[in-house]
Amino acid sequence: MKRCCLVLLVVCLGAAAACGIRRPPQKFHQKLVILGFDGLDPRLVQKWMDDGKLPHLKKLASAGGGVRALETTHSPESPTAWASFATGVNAGKHNIYDFLIRDTTTYLPDLGMVHREPPRFLFNYIPVARPQLTSIRGGTSFWVTAGRAGVRSSVLTVPVTFPPEDVPNGEMLAGLPLPDIRGTMGTFNYFGTDLSRYEEGSTEMGGILKRLVFEGDSARTELVGPPNPIVRQQLRAARGAKTPDLMKVAELEAREDVRLPMAIHWNRAGKSATIDLGDSSIHLAEHEWSKWINLDFSINFLVRVHGMAQLYLVGAGPELQLYVSPVNWKPDKPPAPMSSPASFSADLYERLGPYRTLGWAEATWPLNEDRIDEKTFMDDLYRAFDDRAQVILQRLDTKQWDLLVGVIESTDRVQHMMWRLIDPTHPMYDKALAAKFGDAIERVYRRCDDFVGEVVSRLEPGTPVLIVSDHGFHSFRQSVNLNTWLVQQGFMTLQGQAPGEKKLQDLFGGGTFWENVDWSRTRAYAMGLGQIYVNLKGREGHGIVAPGADSKALQDDLAARLLTMTDPATGARMVDAVYKRDEIYTGAFLDNAAELQVGLADGYRVSWQSTLGGSPPGIVYPNMKKWSGDHGSFDYKTTPGTLISSRSLGERAASIIDLAPTVLKYFGLPIPQEIDGKPLF
Ligand SMILES: [Zn+2]
Repeated sequence: MKRCCLVLLVVCLGAAAACGIRRPPQKFHQKLVILGFDGLDPRLVQKWMDDGKLPHLKKLASAGGGVRALETTHSPESPTAWASFATGVNAGKHNIYDFLIRDTTTYLPDLGMVHREPPRFLFNYIPVARPQLTSIRGGTSFWVTAGRAGVRSSVLTVPVTFPPEDVPNGEMLAGLPLPDIRGTMGTFNYFGTDLSRYEEGSTEMGGILKRLVFEGDSARTELVGPPNPIVRQQLRAARGAKTPDLMKVAELEAREDVRLPMAIHWNRAGKSATIDLGDSSIHLAEHEWSKWINLDFSINFLVRVHGMAQLYLVGAGPELQLYVSPVNWKPDKPPAPMSSPASFSADLYERLGPYRTLGWAEATWPLNEDRIDEKTFMDDLYRAFDDRAQVILQRLDTKQWDLLVGVIESTDRVQHMMWRLIDPTHPMYDKALAAKFGDAIERVYRRCDDFVGEVVSRLEPGTPVLIVSDHGFHSFRQSVNLNTWLVQQGFMTLQGQAPGEKKLQDLFGGGTFWENVDWSRTRAYAMGLGQIYVNLKGREGHGIVAPGADSKALQDDLAARLLTMTDPATGARMVDAVYKRDEIYTGAFLDNAAELQVGLADGYRVSWQSTLGGSPPGIVYPNMKKWSGDHGSFDYKTTPGTLISSRSLGERAASIIDLAPTVLKYFGLPIPQEIDGKPLF
């Protein structure tokens, strides 16, 4: 008997150690599952549910009162809305207003959500300090509040959970903005014989294009890996010197990135290629994907960075075209913790094999840049969906949780890219493509439905399930240059030559912004998705508008004029609503908010160049990109998310800030004062 117990104990300890996770005792008898599908639109859910295409969701909905519109945040964007989901507060209390933030001194945009301190190297060689990553999100997430009271939670790939926070009595696998190995939201590499020298370099949205030149059947090239933090350290010092040595700066810039040599052997007759990369030799036929390839980047003798990528041979016929996915962090050897506890991501890797870790997991940019086609995009998107789904199912089956929250974002990405094929009035509608891929969005919704069915089948009967999305979707038919409008209306003044097109890559590599803006004669500027900032004296580096009455009068003037914006082609009104910061937000981070949030009408979205502060010619122009559906910068009132509950909900309208207090109340816990939302049941 004694021996038997001992054996059992050893087995249990062994199992716990193998899993690396603390297994706290169960304190609560309640269980709750929340599944998030980013951007799931309530109108589409209702439509396809009525058509009988979403049976599992229908069953859930019929138990709890149908498909509900879930009010989103004033800036209807994933980071803002998921932060409000987690904390139950308005953005003024959690500080996430947009993908971008700006430096008030220099006006330079930067990626929001995470503050980064680079690693440090002694003598430019020996690592003495790891990179420091801190979330700028304020507020307290409900899994932390519940965890402190003993609720065991599993929080999986929820956006705005990177860097991962400590979850008392729980576990977390980080989601967006978990970057790729370059520290970006996802930089893909594309190699092609069809590229001209002119096309080489960075694309507008996160790609590196490289021309291939073959000698006989072989070509040599390089895969661009992570920036070398030692060279970056030297660059900061060189650029910061009193009289910078420009030769030295240029020399350092030339070797800022770690590169892996790559050789491509082209079998023209066989329409295939063999790619030598790192330790791997990968043979691919045309239109074939590789499995995940491990890639090691050596910073120096002491420091290596581990990643993994998938290759896809786009073409090997008349041209050789090769796509390499963004290099994902390797879950068992990430450059910084990507889960809590830190060993959790490696444990999952051991159990499931490679799974994509990049927060933005789908290949939206390569499709937008026409480097891959719709079929390739969709094949990859399904795998991204399944990667997230299998993690959720694996954790579900452990049954070591009281609260499980898992989010899948493929729903958002497919709508961004394929909306043009369900909207015949979209400038990028294509009848032939629509015949082939017009059901792409519907198919992903049906995949969600299957997944929900699978989850419910694995739960004890009666376990409440909530289906949540952060926002809905609109057609993005027209691009709106908000800064150009500000110039035209006299709120912004330009001088000198118009600068070139802004690129996402500029955010990561010391790019230039606002070069031709005369700040001494600029009263307002737009950045991000629909945010307009006052150039405020005492706050902005070259502010000219006095705080108080002057700023308020300017905001009133701007709001009134924005509401009269019309499309010159059709006369249609382009702005549904303008929200003033002081009327929609409260909290400690109010000062970081833009003075105005513009809510555009259906069909109109802020242009990409506007998001980065650019002011190219023209106010409105047709969106000729495949990125054709969107939610950011639309009026939040017309962009609600979805709520489906297996528990009956009251009659009142539901908001995304209501989820956190709902969870806390469900576990019988007090709802902290700072929470703005109200429990739904
Ligand atoms: Zn989105």
